[in-house]
Amino acid sequence: GGVLPMITSCSPGWVNMIELKYPELLPHLSTAKSPQQMFGAVAKTYFAERAGIDPAKIVSVSVMPCTAKKAEAAREEMCASGYRDVDVVITTRELGRMIREAGIDFNALEEAEFDSPLGTGTGAAVIFGTTGGVMEAALRTVAEVVAGKELPKLEYNEVRGMEQTREAVIDVVGVSVKVAVVHTLKSAKMMLERIKAGTADYQFIEVMACPGGCIGGGGQPVPVDASIRQKRREAIFNCDRTSELRKSHENQEIKTLYDTWLGKPLSEKAHSLLHTHYHAQNR
Ligand code: SF4
Repeated sequence: GGVLPMITSCSPGWVNMIELKYPELLPHLSTAKSPQQMFGAVAKTYFAERAGIDPAKIVSVSVMPCTAKKAEAAREEMCASGYRDVDVVITTRELGRMIREAGIDFNALEEAEFDSPLGTGTGAAVIFGTTGGVMEAALRTVAEVVAGKELPKLEYNEVRGMEQTREAVIDVVGVSVKVAVVHTLKSAKMMLERIKAGTADYQFIEVMACPGGCIGGGGQPVPVDASIRQKRREAIFNCDRTSELRKSHENQEIKTLYDTWLGKPLSEKAHSLLHTHYHAQNR
């Protein structure tokens, strides 16, 4: 019963635009919450239960490349656990300033592991930070879930690049899936006009509001220009290449979360915590 093409919903700058200017196309938007909001909801429920902490006493803080994430965290409906999914959002630029003000020398800090549960990440998560990365991460998982086995193809160069609108036809276990990747609000608007005109014959579209995706986000350290975005992009792909785990569905913490607590991906519990609905907004 879904509406195609389905469009990603993890970029609040983009979600704001479609809610304000194209509310008639909202049924195309995925109901999945953004990673920030999913993490907050899981932290105040699953993590709270596992750690034996009253969720009322948890303050969840996220560090984001994005100023729009502050307004996203404040959305009325983003409190699936009964408490705000995310209490405080700090941009990377603000965190950088705080680190400098506190005189912390990162190079002199001892290496440490992230806490468990929820401390393990994958290369697929890292590439969310650049245009095409959400699509590539989704394809890595969808192809293997549909095939029911590990596949040799891991990198989807077809969706990488910096052109503001890119498209590709991907073979997913014998089925051709036509996808598009769009970044900047100007290109997103052009894509929405194509959807309205019935000329966007894709199954899935990734949209990021900022140039280059989150590497060019409004909360990132300044200045940002094309060469800095390129360096951030290279760093992201290097980090993915050297990650022990590169696919979301290989993350043991996430498997345990589903196996022991959420149930199947489409369970009522998963839906109520990890999904939401977007609606028309007035400025
Ligand atoms: S693309 Fe921009 S608006 Fe969207 S999540 Fe990233 S930084 Fe925020």
